[in-house]
Amino acid sequence: MRFIPVSEPKLSGNELRYVTECIETSWISSAGKFVTAFEDAFAAFCGTRHGLAVSNGTVALHLGIEALGIGPGDEVIVPDLTFAASANAVIHAGATPVLVDADPRTWNMDPARVEEAVTPRTKAIMAVHLYGNPCDMDALLHLKEKYGLFLIEDAAEAAGATFHGKRVGAFSDFAAYSFFGNKTITSGEGGMCVTDDEALLKRMRVLRDHGMNPEKRYWHDVVGYNYRLTNVQAAIGLAQLEQIEGFILRKREIAAIYRDNLDPELFTLAKVQPGSEHTYWLNSVLLPEQVDRDEVIRQLRARDIDARPVFYPLHEMPPFRQGDRRFPVTVDLSYRGISLPSGVPLTNEEVAYVAESMQDIVEGLYSRAVPDYTAA
Ligand SMILES: *Cc1c(COP(=O)(O)O)cnc(C)c1O
Repeated sequence: MRFIPVSEPKLSGNELRYVTECIETSWISSAGKFVTAFEDAFAAFCGTRHGLAVSNGTVALHLGIEALGIGPGDEVIVPDLTFAASANAVIHAGATPVLVDADPRTWNMDPARVEEAVTPRTKAIMAVHLYGNPCDMDALLHLKEKYGLFLIEDAAEAAGATFHGKRVGAFSDFAAYSFFGNKTITSGEGGMCVTDDEALLKRMRVLRDHGMNPEKRYWHDVVGYNYRLTNVQAAIGLAQLEQIEGFILRKREIAAIYRDNLDPELFTLAKVQPGSEHTYWLNSVLLPEQVDRDEVIRQLRARDIDARPVFYPLHEMPPFRQGDRRFPVTVDLSYRGISLPSGVPLTNEEVAYVAESMQDIVEGLYSRAVPDYTAA
């Protein structure tokens, strides 16, 4: 059997045809029909009015945060258990990420902890739909209204996931997506902001294009960035988007194979809240406390299976320290959690092999850690 990666893209649609068209017509930079076609099609997919294509998911977050007017002196509430880019983007805007602990059932930010973290300086809540599992958007929208805050979605891992039938990304002031090579759909590197707010869209567009006045070329009213996506990347992104429904179905099938083949006595999966539909960007499980997670990863590797630890709690790393505030749930999830191969190209046999190997390795380590005294 081949080496089984955690996530790999499947480029079996119109990718080559569209990229060839870019090259044959010499539209390879950031103007061109694929950029606008990708923006429109992705916004339609999310159920939002507007899409703005950008160079990656991190700058999608930064652009939106800055366009909302959030900056120095402001606080943004961010989950402690997420990829660092969620908090980095807040810091790039000059604001301060205030981290909150996770709900032990869903692994997403716990709305009760979010409410405790609100201060007079709080400007926004950033919901991160971890690994494709939608956050409790009812609870977060309630807090947005109650405290007059912006709600931002970092939907980088959750393209296509739904909450009560509505796509994530459509609940907030703006949502950010990533099209990095390992995400649900990819453009190599790339990202998108989606929003219903036309004024916000216009501010984001100006900031994306060097702060240039859209009516007066080479006149700059604000300090901007170059955060554009190229037509070549958008060509790949659009071809991927054409296939996303099939990708998500396949990811749900992979998740079902794991569910059916991993003993629930040994492995705990994140709960999907009623009304939510998970897209399983990554299938992640908690190991029993007695089992050394890093040893499991080593033994999987020896069987040609890639696996990775669940994200480290942000508050433990130097840029994101939170004084002496404690985050017991994320610490527990982080050090017992493991993300398993979840890519669309995996065969059923490969997924079953990963599940069997997990079962075998963890049973072995568990029985050594918990001796059976009854046998003596
Ligand atoms: C991947 C990811 C990002 C960043 O996306 P890039 O395109 O790699 O910049 C942001 N947030 C989360 C939760 C992610 O998983």
